Amino acid sequence: MIDKTNTLIVGGGQAGLAMSAHLQKCGVKHLVIEKDRIAERWRTARWDSLVMNGPAWHDRFPDKHFDNWHPDSFPNKNAVASYFETFAKQINAPIHCGVEVTNVTPSKNDDFLVKTSKGSIKARNIVAATGPFQTPIIPSIIADDRVSQIHSFNYRNPGQLDNGAVLVVGAGSSGSQIADELLRAGRKVYLSIGPHERPPRAYRGKDFVWWLGTLGKWQMRTPPIGKEHVTIAVSGAYGGKTVDFRKFAHQGMKLLGMTKTYASGVITIADDLAKNIADGDANYLGLLAEADEYIKVNNLDFPAEEGAKLIMPDPACLTSPTRQLHLEDAGIKTILWATGYMQDFSWLKVDVFDNQKKPFHKKGVAAINGIYFIGLPWLSMRGSSFIWGVWEDARYLAAHIAKHRS
Ligand SMILES: Cc1cc2nc3c(=O)[nH]c(=O)nc-3n(C[C@H](O)[C@H](O)[C@H](O)COP(=O)(O)OP(=O)(O)OC[C@H]3O[C@@H](n4cnc5c(N)ncnc54)[C@H](O)[C@@H]3O)c2cc1C
Repeated sequence: MIDKTNTLIVGGGQAGLAMSAHLQKCGVKHLVIEKDRIAERWRTARWDSLVMNGPAWHDRFPDKHFDNWHPDSFPNKNAVASYFETFAKQINAPIHCGVEVTNVTPSKNDDFLVKTSKGSIKARNIVAATGPFQTPIIPSIIADDRVSQIHSFNYRNPGQLDNGAVLVVGAGSSGSQIADELLRAGRKVYLSIGPHERPPRAYRGKDFVWWLGTLGKWQMRTPPIGKEHVTIAVSGAYGGKTVDFRKFAHQGMKLLGMTKTYASGVITIADDLAKNIADGDANYLGLLAEADEYIKVNNLDFPAEEGAKLIMPDPACLTSPTRQLHLEDAGIKTILWATGYMQDFSWLKVDVFDNQKKPFHKKGVAAINGIYFIGLPWLSMRGSSFIWGVWEDARYLAAHIAKHRS
């Protein structure tokens, strides 16, 4: 491996590759260092049946289509991994796989010293592209060996779980998709639901990703106040369906409020299910209303879809919510935590983190010259951690590096 480069990108997922593509366009010499394989997370950190949440026409780089996939289809995770592998070849990315960056420290002459599992490199700039979703978070609520606990990061398929009912905690895209898969596999499923958004899969002939783009919501710079921790429940599974928790309940799933505390085999559930479902419905109906308004104002000839506004009747688990869940009585053998991830920048020994170890940056440019972040949620906009959004952020950061640091 060479011992000096202008810009060293840590991580060979979509963010690292987008960065490489744009640095090349700007003529900046660089290297990408990936500890495993290109797009490793799509290969080994996702469940077997996962397909993209957005359609192939949308969740991609502008420079490459998904070959052999209809633009409106939802490619599976293997197709996503091979998409990025082919893209790396297409741009001839200077990538070294199987090399881990273990330590980055400031060095002489405004450079950084990068220690890796295969030697040291000096670089003028470091781009951290190590992913938005790195270390699984399992809240330390339930300490009881009688029940298995697993994070969605390690979930593969229903057959992997002990026989018996499953409590899925978290109803974002991962939790709601996994709960649906388990229900379809004949499991008894409890789903613990917090605040969420649940856009329609499609409305009046357009996928919700189109509506979010058209209505300027992907480009939002910061989350609305009070909605910083609100997850989004969407799915491309089974051809792409709106996530509808009432429908799940009518199919036999038991909906619960948020999982709060645990003692002597009993989980205490918050009294927030009705509110969380009502807020999710309001978000859903709100998007339909904004879409209708847009169609009206722009005089568009989109097909009407009044049926989309019908909300199913409240299931019993919503009108008489469970507040105490006795694990043994419910037959729950597994708790599956779909509760998100933390980031881990322990290898980056520079003073750009707050006391919660979150990086200080402006659109990915850190306060210390030469340090950049990419791929993080809300880096510059709502779309920043998604495939198409990371491309836009990479364009901006590469231009910044070319102008200021090459
Ligand atoms: C279940 C799930 C489904 C998703 N579905 C979609 C979707 O449909 N559409 C969409 O647009 N987005 C989706 N996302 C969001 C996002 O696109 C993915 O999380 C994507 O993997 C992020 O890409 P990335 O390159 O930023 O990070 P990652 O894919 O996490 O890549 C980071 C890379 O850095 C490497 N690395 C980490 N540390 C080091 C180190 N110290 N040295 C060297 N290498 C290192 C890792 O091995 C990894 O390969 C999904 C996310 C999840 C969790």
